[in-house]
Amino acid sequence: MTSISGKSDLDWARFAERLAPVEVITEPVLIKKRSRDFFWYSPILNEELKKCFGDLVAVPRNAEEMKHCLRLAYDAEVPVVLRGGGTGNYGQAVPLSGGLIIETTAMNKVLEIGDGFVRVEAGALMVDINRALAESGQEMAMFPSTHEIATIGGFVAGGSVGIGSLATGALREPGNLIELKALSVEADPQEHVFRGDDVLKIHHAWGLNGVITEITLRTVPSRNWFACMATFDSYKSCYAAGYQIATTDAVEPKMASVVDRRIAEYFPRLKGHVREGHHLLVCYVPGENIDPFRDIVATHGGQTELALGDEEREAAKIPHAFEFCFNHTTLQVLKSDRKATYQQIGVPEPADVDAIERLRSAIGEDVWTHHEFFRLGGQVVAADLPIIWYSGPERLEEINATYEMHGFAVYNAHTSELERGGLHNADYTHLAWKKRLDPKGLLNSAKSAAWQDVKHLSATEIEAKAVK
Ligand SMILES: Cc1cc2nc3c(=O)[nH]c(=O)nc-3n(C[C@H](O)[C@H](O)[C@H](O)COP(=O)(O)OP(=O)(O)OC[C@H]3O[C@@H](n4cnc5c(N)ncnc54)[C@H](O)[C@@H]3O)c2cc1C
Repeated sequence: MTSISGKSDLDWARFAERLAPVEVITEPVLIKKRSRDFFWYSPILNEELKKCFGDLVAVPRNAEEMKHCLRLAYDAEVPVVLRGGGTGNYGQAVPLSGGLIIETTAMNKVLEIGDGFVRVEAGALMVDINRALAESGQEMAMFPSTHEIATIGGFVAGGSVGIGSLATGALREPGNLIELKALSVEADPQEHVFRGDDVLKIHHAWGLNGVITEITLRTVPSRNWFACMATFDSYKSCYAAGYQIATTDAVEPKMASVVDRRIAEYFPRLKGHVREGHHLLVCYVPGENIDPFRDIVATHGGQTELALGDEEREAAKIPHAFEFCFNHTTLQVLKSDRKATYQQIGVPEPADVDAIERLRSAIGEDVWTHHEFFRLGGQVVAADLPIIWYSGPERLEEINATYEMHGFAVYNAHTSELERGGLHNADYTHLAWKKRLDPKGLLNSAKSAAWQDVKHLSATEIEAKAVK
């Protein structure tokens, strides 16, 4: 078996044999498929990553099998990329250096449900976790809009906020991640347990500093969530209503998304259910708070189009409301037109409507805004995930600069390098733990430029950089 990546001279057939009894995927077409994620959202990343493949896929069923994979990878000095559902947007799960892809989806057990928490294996799909929780009258405190196909391990290693974050904050906020167990890549892989604030040593590190095997997450009591949608003549009133709904105690939504009318035209499954040609507000609101929701919509001159419990929504053949928020909004447009792309923008605080209006008048017709509200440190903040009609890297730079000129932060979605995207800077705590758990630097190392600069240092020396 020759190297599919073209970057390795290992005997992969022999390596696959040594992995037994772990299930492996050796079919080149399937390996190539498992080498991709949703990087194609970005035309820049698409060019960079479309020809990057792994050499073999292993699918361990439990922590012991995972250890076996890691032990052999360490021994043969094989690059390793962890993969859950492969829904990351920046090529996080693409094996840039070739090597072994370890897919976690067979490690998918819900291990324990208690009052206010759930303990699961890292490869569990979030839809299955929520299904298991329902019997106990609880739900996940938040989940991404890829709920049906993404794993909890991938969300913890690669994600940040989701549906629920307007009520319970970002994933990284105290109490949301209770405990993580992670394996090292060594001759004898060791389990490390991170609790409380220590979970941040592993969270959002793109799987480059440990292999997460088990996660204990915060759960909240289930509520009777209604999918609510309202339409407005102006973006300004739509945003203002969304902001008021997000911030008032009377409504208690777990999600509020504001979508430009031009984007809403790409939502064919809402045709006949919401007024066309209008800006759209999409929320999840507890059933008992629908009236205050309607009142706020009316105060801002909007029209409530629907407020449906889950059964009614299904009967009306309307998709989940979360398919019209976060990065699903971008997906709906991309389904029709691959010239679209997006960006990730932090709105300056306070996230008031005047700043949004100033920005919208300066930004140009090729940028269609879409805002999400969520909580950080208890405060409601906003992010913009605009649709951008891509005409080249220079124009993208110009758009970024316009946002920055208006005080907005750009978290570049068009890089596969950890430090140049959402983090903005090197996270030396992550890298110190990489040195401890991955001394040979086998785990997804090509995603971190900063790692190249510090890999020769001890973990303590790397950690010291974090406090400077
Ligand atoms: C349509 C769409 C909507 C999205 N909406 C959201 C959203 O609402 N909120 C949000 O935060 N993100 C969102 N994302 C991004 C992404 O879906 C989420 O981050 C998702 O939870 C990733 O899970 P996954 O199982 O697909 O992870 P993968 O893409 O497989 O992996 C993500 C990263 O985690 C690493 N990893 C996976 N498993 C492990 C493990 N066990 N141990 C260590 N590292 C591991 C991988 O190596 C990779 O670096 C969206 C993406 C798309 C395409």
